[in-house]
Amino acid sequence: MADYRVKATAAGGSIRAIAAVTTTTALQVQKVHQASPVAAAALGRLITAASLLAADFKDEFRLTAEVEAGGPLGRVVAEVRTGGLVRARAEHPTVDMPLRSDGKLAVGQAVGTHGILRVVREERGRTAYEGQAPIVSGEIGEDLANYYRSSEQIPAAVALGVLIGREGLVVASGGLVIQALPGIREMTTDEIAEKFQTLHNISWRLSRGESPEDLLREVLPSPVHWLSTETLDYQCQCSAERSLEIIGGLPESDLVALIQEQGAEVVCHYCNTAYPISLFDLEQIRNMRAHRKN
Ligand SMILES: [Zn+2]
Repeated sequence: MADYRVKATAAGGSIRAIAAVTTTTALQVQKVHQASPVAAAALGRLITAASLLAADFKDEFRLTAEVEAGGPLGRVVAEVRTGGLVRARAEHPTVDMPLRSDGKLAVGQAVGTHGILRVVREERGRTAYEGQAPIVSGEIGEDLANYYRSSEQIPAAVALGVLIGREGLVVASGGLVIQALPGIREMTTDEIAEKFQTLHNISWRLSRGESPEDLLREVLPSPVHWLSTETLDYQCQCSAERSLEIIGGLPESDLVALIQEQGAEVVCHYCNTAYPISLFDLEQIRNMRAHRKN
């Protein structure tokens, strides 16, 4: 099943729901970074979180969800841009941790519990929105629910999950958010909360072939009104041109040092692609600068 996200409403529009499956992307990100199981789980959950947060945007946007909470994985970042293109990284993706006493991956411990979840949305290259909320548990699902509640002032129920197989690789990844808009009847929220309890282990269910729609159908009161569906794909956005731009932004002294070293290399933190910068390129950048000054 290719990765995608679906939006829906229920209870006459007073409930908004988004669900996503991100298995292929999460596995790709794990392979690119040779991420440990616990790092892959954190990355997969954050990828799903970013995909849910990006559901309302279409034209030339980039949404970054970032968690910095003092754990051994360091900063974990997931980015979704126009067309549902996703990339992600963790500062220390190979760090592994023993399982918790209940046999689950220690995601919260690996991410850390003291810090913030930050969400930045850029539109046409400019920051259009920036919000943040304190980390609750580092498990990402709870942190995202807290973010919705504190930043957007909307009560939200969130479930995120990543299933890691015996070989230590991502087998399933996905999640959902349900938001209660103003005017919803209390009974309806109670019903949803109750049904939400039965949703535990969504990654296992996705691995068994259940779809995001199946999960939503189970929690939402019928009839469910289905809105848009969008595919999600792994794709980095680095390029040789972008690497030259980075070099072009360096201070003069750094540029001179690189010229003395006869060349340079720009490595993308998101996909580990190395872009060699030749001495010719470096000299050309320097000449262009000198030209501009005159
Ligand atoms: Zn890249």
